[in-house]
Amino acid sequence: MNFHPGTRTFVTLPTATPVTVAHGDGVGPEIMDAALRVLEAAGAKLAIEEIEIGEKVYRRGLSAGIAPEAWDSLRRTGLFFKAPITTPQGGGFKSLNVTIRKGLGLFANVRPTQAYAPFVATKHPAMDVVIVRENEEDLYAGIEHRQTDEVYQCLKLISRPGTERIVRYAFDYARASGRRSVTCFTKDNIMKLTDGLFHKVFDEIGAEYPEIEKRHMIIDIGAARLADSPERFDVIVTPNLYGDIVSDIAAEVAGSVGLAGSANIGAHGAMFEAIHGSAPDIAGQGIANPSGLILAGVMMLQHVGQAEAAQRLHNAWLTTIEDGIHTADIYTPAGSTKQVGTQAFADAVIDRVGESPKRLKPAHYDASQGAIPIPAYERKAPARKELVGIDVFVEWRGTPDDLAARLKGAEDGLVALKLITNRGVKVWPEGLPETFCTDHWRCRFEAHPGKMPNKATLAQLLGRLASAGVEFVKTEHLFTFDGTPGYSLGQGQ
Ligand code: NAD
Repeated sequence: MNFHPGTRTFVTLPTATPVTVAHGDGVGPEIMDAALRVLEAAGAKLAIEEIEIGEKVYRRGLSAGIAPEAWDSLRRTGLFFKAPITTPQGGGFKSLNVTIRKGLGLFANVRPTQAYAPFVATKHPAMDVVIVRENEEDLYAGIEHRQTDEVYQCLKLISRPGTERIVRYAFDYARASGRRSVTCFTKDNIMKLTDGLFHKVFDEIGAEYPEIEKRHMIIDIGAARLADSPERFDVIVTPNLYGDIVSDIAAEVAGSVGLAGSANIGAHGAMFEAIHGSAPDIAGQGIANPSGLILAGVMMLQHVGQAEAAQRLHNAWLTTIEDGIHTADIYTPAGSTKQVGTQAFADAVIDRVGESPKRLKPAHYDASQGAIPIPAYERKAPARKELVGIDVFVEWRGTPDDLAARLKGAEDGLVALKLITNRGVKVWPEGLPETFCTDHWRCRFEAHPGKMPNKATLAQLLGRLASAGVEFVKTEHLFTFDGTPGYSLGQGQ
């Protein structure tokens, strides 16, 4: 069966919330139709504007998979209910999700993942975790450079405003949803400045939430524990890359990728979608599970203040799952009573509007809660910043000692060559001959005690290096902030 999206428009009441809807690719149109039918039956008041995104738009030559007029709708409504899309293979296509997240400033990705034992098979029946992932920064800023023949670089950017916003959102979310603990995952034992800032801000802001238990875990052990015993966790807050990985781990161990919805939240907009992709392998067969998108719809209703409809819909869905009416992806002879297709599942949910589950915990949404307020960032007084040196990154194929001899020739009375590292490991002075060296060297010049280099004297240093034939590919100024170094030491320094 091929499914064609209808032009469904809910009755537009004066109180209806304007929302932009995209039917997407693959199973997208099938599950979106099912989701809109159950939303309507639960009493959602939505004024829908439909847009086209995804494969067809990419094929028309729009590299981000979205047309300018679709942006007009998104900016008008500030609310996006989105079915999955297919990202075409090959170069030249930009990720639509990243484009929309950045375009609308959707800084928080919120993914609840829950086990529905004994009705859906899972190894972790008590799992009920919400991952709050920072969505805009970190290695996903997309600033990459090839610097030498052998070395490529991706900049990891963590900002105080971005971190304060996501950490506060996680605590506010935990408070609003009556959750008991927030765990922060970072790798600040290695990345002391970037992940160190995330951890520090977590401690600072966490102190404002005394009723919530706070924990920090290094991401590697945190991810391992999440996979092994997810029931230990409640809300998790983490930077972008770790969050991307651990939220998929969480969905997988909960039971089915077809069951989880997600919210992308910003100060000026929000997007709600299933976490899975367009599932081209089952598209058009009418067997996809619409639950991820339905639960994203529940999150959307709660976000726009339609708590009653959110609660009715969530409880009807839980009752359907509890009654064993299951799509093929979660069907088991032990936990299910009937295997149904996408639309029959939606019909079963609609039949149960007004009912509450008896064994699974019923959902409760408070009418006083809507979107979590996002306070404006209050910029702090700037720290006292002093320039104390420069890291010069150099392409070089010789030995560290030969490079050092060349660099030392460019020293002046203000700065001296302090160390050379290769991939972060000290190779001069007193490096180990065993250290493997690429063609990419970080050469650190530091100020002599009591001397104050400035940008002009450092530019002269670079001029002397250029004259000496040193192939520098990038520089980083070394600053202290209120006397604390704003740069890491070399390994072995
Ligand atoms: P996928 O999530 O589409 O599918 C993975 C597996 O899970 C498949 O076997 C699929 O049949 C199954 N599955 C997924 N959703 C299901 C559902 N609702 N019911 C039953 N089974 C379901 O991941 P993929 O195959 O890696 O990606 C397919 C396409 O989706 C790619 O083009 C990818 O770029 C895109 N994608 C889009 C989004 C998005 O729009 N948010 C997210 C992820 C992937």
